Amino acid sequence: MRTVDVAIVGGGIAGMSAAAAIALALPDERVGVFEAEAGLTHHTTGRSAAVFIENYGALSLRPLTLASKAYYHRHDFLTPRGYLAVAGPSDEGLIDQLVLEGRAMNPNIAAIDAEEAQRLAPLMRPDHVVAAVYEPDASAIDVAGLHQSFVRGFRAAGGTIETLRRITAGRPVRSDGASGWVLETTSGPISCGTVVNAAGAWGDVVASSAGVAPVGLRPLRRTAFMVTSPYPESGSWPLIADVAHAWYANPDGHQFLCSLADETPSEPCDAKPEEVDIALAIERINSATTLDIRSVNSSWAGLRTFSPDRGMVIGPDPEHPSFIWCVGQGGTGIQTAPGAGQLVADLLVTGEPGSTFEGTGLDLSLILPGRLR
Ligand SMILES: Cc1cc2nc3c(=O)[nH]c(=O)nc-3n(C[C@H](O)[C@H](O)[C@H](O)COP(=O)(O)OP(=O)(O)OC[C@H]3O[C@@H](n4cnc5c(N)ncnc54)[C@H](O)[C@@H]3O)c2cc1C
Repeated sequence: MRTVDVAIVGGGIAGMSAAAAIALALPDERVGVFEAEAGLTHHTTGRSAAVFIENYGALSLRPLTLASKAYYHRHDFLTPRGYLAVAGPSDEGLIDQLVLEGRAMNPNIAAIDAEEAQRLAPLMRPDHVVAAVYEPDASAIDVAGLHQSFVRGFRAAGGTIETLRRITAGRPVRSDGASGWVLETTSGPISCGTVVNAAGAWGDVVASSAGVAPVGLRPLRRTAFMVTSPYPESGSWPLIADVAHAWYANPDGHQFLCSLADETPSEPCDAKPEEVDIALAIERINSATTLDIRSVNSSWAGLRTFSPDRGMVIGPDPEHPSFIWCVGQGGTGIQTAPGAGQLVADLLVTGEPGSTFEGTGLDLSLILPGRLR
């Protein structure tokens, strides 16, 4: 039987960020990552829009975004891009709340008028923008570089990664769940002291198969696609999104990454793009902008997995303290990964958030799994 002290289920950005932080914090322990697929970023981690936006996602997880900033600044994985949330005549009322929430994190986030929005994003049709919120510090994330930095840090600290090894079942060795698990996998059993569940859309499946009550995760499919930009200068424009989340268009070199910002309930699976979501996105984007999309270069879909309150679920299970949750990354699992991974390690090692979270406003009661039981 393969034996480790800490077994991490899933090698996406959530699993690898936690793995790297845990291996650093526990240098004398054997820490292993077990991934079902041949590649670590096959699922949602390899399918994101790769942006870092402070004013985005549930308020409870924003401290994890703040706590991640120091890591990004140390490692140079961010390229400034800016984020423009545009409001048409019927959505102007959403602007004040968005600015209020944004300025609580970053005073540079501000409301701007239609003229300024048009200057920043010349593709907007004038009748579709009456006001906007601009976040100048929003950035593009080098997701592959970020994920690899966790893989490298983990391996350098002695951690091991095994791919094509799906966890199929598990049972606690002790009835109080305090320590010790046997995990069944597609290539033989694993004995471990602690399990970290970072299985993304499969988070509840993994928990249930180990006899741990699920937290109510909802995988929601989102389709994205690339189109050629008719504007040679668009590479320097900000990410442009409808303030009511009806579409977005993110400049990427000579292309735009576009999406309907759809959230369609799905089973955990290898998500595929839906033609109907692409068609509706094109209709909305062509009506709001002058992109004049006529063809799509490539498309894909991924599952953004949310907890019932859309906050992340990090920390020990109340009934099985050696089963640590790290799920519910939703639409911000990349940007929050350095902070979220560190929080998993802090809670595992000391039971409380460490210095990374000082001054971030982290409210643990909105993160721990116990709130969902
Ligand atoms: C279109 C789109 C745009 C997005 N844009 C952004 C963005 O701009 N910024 C941002 O921060 N986030 C964004 N996200 C969200 C982000 O991609 C996710 O929050 C993040 O990737 C989740 O990471 P994860 O590691 O939890 O999941 P995953 O990457 O899915 O990793 C989970 C892993 O667990 C493995 N696994 C599952 N079950 C088992 C098992 N039984 N045994 C072993 N392994 C198992 C899976 O194979 C998988 O590799 C976007 C998502 C989508 C779909």
